[in-house]
Amino acid sequence: MTKLRLAIVGAGPAGIYAADILLKAERKFDVSIDLFEQLPAPYGLVRYGVAPDHPRIKGIITALRDVLDRGDIRLFGNVRFGEDITLEDLKKHYNAVIFATGAIRDTTLEIPGIDAVASYGAADYVSWFDGHPDVPREWPLDAASVGVLGNGNVALDVARMLAKHAEDLLVTEVPENVYQGLQASQVTDVHVFGRRGPAQVKFTPLELRELGELRDVDMVVYDEDFDYDEASKDAVASNKQVMVIDRILQSWRKRDSVNNAGGTASRRLHLHFWARPVEVRTDESGRVAALVYERTQPDGQGGAVGTGEMREVPLQALYRAIGYFGSPLPGVPFDKKHGVIPNREGQVLAKDSNQQLPGVYATGWIKRGPVGLIGHTKSDAMETVRHIINDQGSWWHPEDPSEDAVVALLQERGVKWTDLDGWHRLDEHEISLGAPHERARVKVVPREEMVRVSRGE
Ligand code: NAP
Repeated sequence: MTKLRLAIVGAGPAGIYAADILLKAERKFDVSIDLFEQLPAPYGLVRYGVAPDHPRIKGIITALRDVLDRGDIRLFGNVRFGEDITLEDLKKHYNAVIFATGAIRDTTLEIPGIDAVASYGAADYVSWFDGHPDVPREWPLDAASVGVLGNGNVALDVARMLAKHAEDLLVTEVPENVYQGLQASQVTDVHVFGRRGPAQVKFTPLELRELGELRDVDMVVYDEDFDYDEASKDAVASNKQVMVIDRILQSWRKRDSVNNAGGTASRRLHLHFWARPVEVRTDESGRVAALVYERTQPDGQGGAVGTGEMREVPLQALYRAIGYFGSPLPGVPFDKKHGVIPNREGQVLAKDSNQQLPGVYATGWIKRGPVGLIGHTKSDAMETVRHIINDQGSWWHPEDPSEDAVVALLQERGVKWTDLDGWHRLDEHEISLGAPHERARVKVVPREEMVRVSRGE
């Protein structure tokens, strides 16, 4: 029987779902899958993008783990695509590759002052609080007033992880250095800015409600933002999700703390709507000193137009949570404008033409951009996998498709890769570090230590 030797680059949900779907799919050939991951641990965004206090979403790991534990997928962690293994190598040893490398950088925002000291991308902060091995261990949390740009779930994650008291994270898997950093935070006020109104937000009700449940944090909303136009009223009336969001926000309007008058908490989380960022003002040292925003108003169709009125909010740090962006991969076409690999339903297209590149596929955020919840990645993977199955005639013809060949190659290059047994070792190690303190786990952060524990060295 014909065999498909498939390489998948990226062991996040997108890569693991694609492997699972292919292995379960009706097909007329055998499959053997090698999953390459640049980090020493699998699960991508679930491990390094979902906030530590969201164990429900982290629970997706259980399903992903079940797929890996079935034993028909080989994991090669700590292997960097483009350095430790290249597209040329993959062509020598596989019939096809799926890129599932996600989107981990921040979209840029072209406004004056955005490069100021203490102006950060949300993705970097998220990587820090999730213990990503490749970001600095220290994060300066010396600002009292902090701004967060954007009205998506990432903005709420960032706002919550700035406003929440460090002690309330102790039950989670928060890394020790992150706990220490958050404990030293000087924050008193977190200001979230959305460029449209409450009926046009991208975040979801559960995540919004959670903000109101933070201990010793008052929610502050502003009456002037709730003067709904017809389009907003329609959205509230016709969309269940918007309706719930509106209800939550309205409940905060009724509280004493509205407009900051009378709240008793030591920290406040302000939601500003109709605020389009215009400029970041800096002090003489070049550090963030204020955000200038233009007050916007509804355009009647769910959008916003400027009013010309400029406002300034003093801040000492700013986080932009206005979307993620994919990163280019060596030798693989890249669409610089959208931050994705150009593709048609997951079939990767050559750089300057619409021609399909045989054997090369994409799935997840690097395929469709950083939108949608983790579960949406499944339908995405189905589409890509369907094409791989149907494209059998155009797969690569590797010179050495044996399973040993890639192991020999990595060995020859001195790559210290981690495998599934190694991941189990690291997983158990982290859980055992947490157990005496009744914590879910304590994440190991330094890459060398992750590799050492995984490899049992
Ligand atoms: P998102 O949902 O697309 O939200 C991006 C936000 O940034 C929007 O409010 C957008 O406003 C705003 N924005 C974009 N460009 C802007 C600009 N130039 N100036 C000001 N604001 C700007 O993206 P995300 O928050 O990065 O989330 C990505 C995906 O991950 C989403 O599907 C999200 O639900 C998911 N996620 C889920 C969770 C969870 O379930 N707890 C947690 C994190 C992320 P406009 O709407 O006006 O464009």
